[in-house]
Amino acid sequence: MSGLTWRACPTCGIAPTDSRQRCYVCGSDTCELWDKDQCAEHCEITVGAWQNYTRLTNNPLSVKRRPPTALGYHPIRGVGVWAELPVREWKKQRPGMGHRTDLEKT
Ligand SMILES: [Zn+2]
Repeated sequence: MSGLTWRACPTCGIAPTDSRQRCYVCGSDTCELWDKDQCAEHCEITVGAWQNYTRLTNNPLSVKRRPPTALGYHPIRGVGVWAELPVREWKKQRPGMGHRTDLEKT
């Protein structure tokens, strides 16, 4: 990687924070940027499932169960990226791993 470290502020989005742990705009803790592979690996789901869960249309999950939306595209790598912290939170709140809890109750 080059000298400038790109990190994410969960509030402001992608910012070149140059290794700073706090956002220079709002003062929130910054975190890493994860691509879809890193998100899927952390959440112990397939990349295909992650893509299903994060897409806007034909999404199998109800809105409140969906993972955080992507912050945008990484300025250097050009791939969609997510802030690490909301993804970690989403995994913690995701109930019943291994069960079809994503299905709507009728
Ligand atoms: Zn911020």
